[in-house]
Amino acid sequence: MFRPNSARKPQPSSRQRYEAKRGSARERGYDAQWDRAALHFKEGAPLCLGCEAIGRLTPTTVVDHVVPHRGDRELFWNEGLWQPSCDWHHNVVKKQLEAKFDRGSIGVADLWLDSPTAKALTVHLLPDRDELDEDGGEVESRGL
Ligand SMILES: [Zn+2]
Repeated sequence: MFRPNSARKPQPSSRQRYEAKRGSARERGYDAQWDRAALHFKEGAPLCLGCEAIGRLTPTTVVDHVVPHRGDRELFWNEGLWQPSCDWHHNVVKKQLEAKFDRGSIGVADLWLDSPTAKALTVHLLPDRDELDEDGGEVESRGL
């Protein structure tokens, strides 16, 4: 029996999705040169700055542009404004920091993942907060 399939929207193939993603990333400057520079940066900064700021050791997976570069090449390549980040800090904490920055409620200094603003946000958003002192004090060292 004939089954009409016209109601289904055509889906882009995974190849097309890949090309689209790759194209936009390239437009934003993430090319082979960036990959090499980011790899080198990660070697020198293997731990997430935001996690380290609250006493956690998490591998760096993303080199984050502290100030959103929005295609600005000078800002993009300013290594003094790069920071090591884990996926979670990049996708959750930094996203919220940048939204506040865009609204003008925080400044450039607050965009660093070890700034007091970022640390407070990290503690607030942390998925497993039980390990942290709720009063915001130092995490107790468990007698090494
Ligand atoms: Zn982190």
